[in-house]
Amino acid sequence: MTVHLLLGRLCVLVNHLPTTDSDLSNAIAAERERQRDTLAMIASENYASESVLEAQGSVLTNKYAEGDPGNRYYAGCEHVDTVEEIAIERAKELFGAEHANVQPHSGTQANLAAYLALLEPGDRILSLELSHGGHLSHGHERTLPHDHFEVFHYTLDVDTGRLEYDAVAERAREVNPDLLVSGYSAYPRRVDWTRMQAIAEEVDAYHVADIAHLTGLIAGGVHPSPVDTADIVTCSTHKTIRAGRGGMVLCDREYADIVDRAVMPGCQGGPLMHNVAGKAAGFGEALRPEFEEYAAAILENAEALSEQLRARGLELVSGGTDVHFALVDLRNTHPERTGLAAERALEEAGIVANKSAVPGDPRPPTRASGLRLGTPALTTRGFGPDDLRTVANLVVDVLENPADDAVEAAVRERVSELCDEHPVYE
Ligand SMILES: *Cc1c(COP(=O)(O)O)cnc(C)c1O
Repeated sequence: MTVHLLLGRLCVLVNHLPTTDSDLSNAIAAERERQRDTLAMIASENYASESVLEAQGSVLTNKYAEGDPGNRYYAGCEHVDTVEEIAIERAKELFGAEHANVQPHSGTQANLAAYLALLEPGDRILSLELSHGGHLSHGHERTLPHDHFEVFHYTLDVDTGRLEYDAVAERAREVNPDLLVSGYSAYPRRVDWTRMQAIAEEVDAYHVADIAHLTGLIAGGVHPSPVDTADIVTCSTHKTIRAGRGGMVLCDREYADIVDRAVMPGCQGGPLMHNVAGKAAGFGEALRPEFEEYAAAILENAEALSEQLRARGLELVSGGTDVHFALVDLRNTHPERTGLAAERALEEAGIVANKSAVPGDPRPPTRASGLRLGTPALTTRGFGPDDLRTVANLVVDVLENPADDAVEAAVRERVSELCDEHPVYE
């Protein structure tokens, strides 16, 4: 254990919790080991740096700061003002945005704020169908936006697994939405933001681009940005960008006030200042030149993974990837190989990934027919393309040999070696 760690957040965990609360301390220590000893391939996950963890585990958790920097409802905010101003300035620089609100507690709340800022109750939202790669927060029937707005969906082309923009435009003319949502959870290809904006403009709708998954790729310059194109851009801050956990809204000055008031008091109270500090720390790291290399390496690794999965006979939705994950279509493999079965078998072998629906999926989302395999976290650990080809082989070995203990043990062993070769949180 390094001095840096001892002095940082971990002194809280290592020095105090074990004596004050051993049950909790043991669970946290076990989770740390799990993160260290398994392959984290959930595409939305990453390893935050120790600096980010330190900022998030700081005394900032104690402070109430409703309002905006310099204009709070509480006294004693001079230092949290500085923290939030740093986060805002870095976010603006990173994404070239005129305005940033870094207070949303999550990406879901950033979306809620965007809807609240732009829409009246009963207005129409048009977003991608969940089972085609959309997100719950884009108006799923069991969510708040679904109760307040009229929600319609567009789909991917089930044959190509891609957005066919002419079909989206046609659906927009049919629905005549007030808001078009772009940006997805499980779409393995680049999004043409300009085209989506043109579709929104044609039907006189606002355009919200949700870059939750793409933040790091956009900040690192390896995926086009919708900032300057869409009306409002929303995101999570802990996925590819690997900053503190939470959400953010980016927009032009003209929307700044309505966005700020939609975030607070519209959908939340006091900001989580420790998480805002985590965002600031992570954005600071993302502004360094090394981050561009990291973003490029995520894609290079996803490419190597995808090619090897295909070489071993697996089908990928859309035939490949432009982003940070591959989406495996299990439908034409074994009839019992559901996304859920694949997820469970891989977890037994130390590979943590998640099931995902594929476009036109005949199975319910609880079982699904797809498997999403992401590279952001492994890339943070220093895995390279050769490692990802190895990982692809391990994944296929597991999928091809269900309930074979010898294969599972061999894969586990190799996973262990890979983890030792690329340590994290030592
Ligand atoms: C992950 C994600 C979000 C937000 O998720 P939170 O868990 O609320 O931060 C929003 N939109 C998309 C497309 C996502 O993938």
